[in-house]
Amino acid sequence: MILLDPKHHDRKYADERSREVMQKTIAFFERKGKRRLKEDDRERVWYADFLEFVKTERIFATLLTPAGYGGPDCRWDTWRNCEFAEILGFYGLAYWYTWQVSVLGLGPIWMSQNQAIKQRTARLLEAGGIFAFGLSERAHGADVYSTEMQLVPQADGSYLARGEKYYIGNANQAALVSTFGKIAGTQDYVFFAIDSQHEKFECIRNVVNSQSYVSNFALHDAPISEADILSKGKQAWNAALNTVNIGKYNLGWASIGICTHALYEALHHAVHRNLYGRAVTEFPHVRQLFTDATTRLLAMKLVALRAADYLRSASPEDRRYLLYNPVVKMKVTTQGEDVIDHLWDVIAAKGFERDGYFEMAARDIRALPKLEGTVHVNIALIVKFMPSFFFNPQSHPEIPRRDDPANDDFLFDQGPTKGLGQIRFHDYLPVFAASALPNVGVFREQVAVFRELLEKATPGDSQANDIDFLMAVGEIFTLVVYAQLLLENTAIYPIEPELVNQIFDVLVRDFSRHAVELHGKPTSTPAQMEHCLRMVRKPVVDRDATARVWKQHVLPLADRYEMNP
Ligand SMILES: Cc1cc2nc3c(=O)[nH]c(=O)nc-3n(C[C@H](O)[C@H](O)[C@H](O)COP(=O)(O)OP(=O)(O)OC[C@H]3O[C@@H](n4cnc5c(N)ncnc54)[C@H](O)[C@@H]3O)c2cc1C
Repeated sequence: MILLDPKHHDRKYADERSREVMQKTIAFFERKGKRRLKEDDRERVWYADFLEFVKTERIFATLLTPAGYGGPDCRWDTWRNCEFAEILGFYGLAYWYTWQVSVLGLGPIWMSQNQAIKQRTARLLEAGGIFAFGLSERAHGADVYSTEMQLVPQADGSYLARGEKYYIGNANQAALVSTFGKIAGTQDYVFFAIDSQHEKFECIRNVVNSQSYVSNFALHDAPISEADILSKGKQAWNAALNTVNIGKYNLGWASIGICTHALYEALHHAVHRNLYGRAVTEFPHVRQLFTDATTRLLAMKLVALRAADYLRSASPEDRRYLLYNPVVKMKVTTQGEDVIDHLWDVIAAKGFERDGYFEMAARDIRALPKLEGTVHVNIALIVKFMPSFFFNPQSHPEIPRRDDPANDDFLFDQGPTKGLGQIRFHDYLPVFAASALPNVGVFREQVAVFRELLEKATPGDSQANDIDFLMAVGEIFTLVVYAQLLLENTAIYPIEPELVNQIFDVLVRDFSRHAVELHGKPTSTPAQMEHCLRMVRKPVVDRDATARVWKQHVLPLADRYEMNP
């Protein structure tokens, strides 16, 4: 059982403090109870109680201070940060969000050469501070090149910060807001830190209708000295992208947490709902939907866990995480939407009820594919790796499960962001070839046809510039990488082969769907269309095995967890 079950929490940790952080966090929410949780959500109450808990228990200080800047329990350890994010998502996206934007706000600080501000940040974390990441602007969306926030140089060598930011979480209370701008009169980027309570910092309003505070803020000639500067020029640009590299990975964990709680609640309802004299879960299509939801969720978790191994093992020589992180961001979060859709199709009216977790999940799951770069932006990034992935593999040392208590030093020293096309990957074929499972076999054949399309019906120059076409290609490529990470992790976690085969049943159908989509693109050529049709395959039917998966792996989740009232 790899799904989070807060009432039987038994994950492996290298130290007692890590376990304590998770157990205390779970206890905080269970003590709060579902009624209060929902009431606060409904009334959009700022989560002061949670932040007080974080402060008293030094939770962010432990998890978000890199080794060397804080107490002996402090390190930036993706293994435990993943689970913490999952727990927060499990209880509510707003709690996860205040953590997430703190992660982002801390990125440019821990990447900075400014030691004084790093020491100060460690003290602020100990004091219970939260942080913010001021990158986005109202008019520019994904186009950060057009940033208008300025630092205007003054005669004494200092600056005045002038401009506005939009969609900035935590900016109502952040101890420091890492703010991205340009030096006025130049095209030089800069990151500087400012206290959200500074008199020249105007928190204009909350632009969203939620417990979270996602602000529009303005700096009215706020004085900034060299002591407040985190980075300049190329380093500031790299800090922006490298911070998002870390942050975008966490989005997958919010989706996993949300889906896990929603699955428990939905399944519990359906199993105990009797229509026409029998449980709703006796309908074959209901079983199918729950089986698909559960297997999709397991895949999401296995992929995100495996991607963490690569993230933690990354180095200047091994930058494979730059593909795997956007795959987690784009694919795990959109799979989360599918999981909720499946569940909602079954529980129907129940999914609207104000007292349930589900209605919150149904709303919040939509956010994750859209934050920190949309699905499109991430697919556009992912396709850059495709030629190297398929046609230029290289051997790498085997990456084991990374649950050791290391500080993830490289995350704050990722270096230049360029050269993506030159990154080399280990060969994807052996892990597929090693499996004798029937649906892995079908999937492998689909991948072979896709690769053949790339080789023999290669997208032409005009198609390479047709983003709509590339999106469809990127969906298929992403699925291949996703399946590879998943399969790698089934060798590390003891997942029953029958369950893995059932997961691939879903993936084979998804592959077919994406192939049909590519087939229908306006610019697809006859040769490409012919390949697409060959990619449309049916999973191998084994009714007995599917029935066993339902009985042994899905149904037992129905009464496994219920939040304290
Ligand atoms: C609740 C919430 C919280 C947020 N918190 C923060 C925060 O704390 N800090 C912060 O800095 N930002 C934050 N953001 C901003 C968020 O990161 C942006 O919303 C996101 O990057 C997408 O920008 P956009 O919504 O303006 O879309 P736009 O950039 O306007 O995109 C419009 C369309 O163009 C497509 N597109 C754009 N560029 C490309 C490309 N290169 N390739 C392919 N397609 C492309 C997009 O996919 C989209 O379909 C937050 C946003 C929300 C809603």
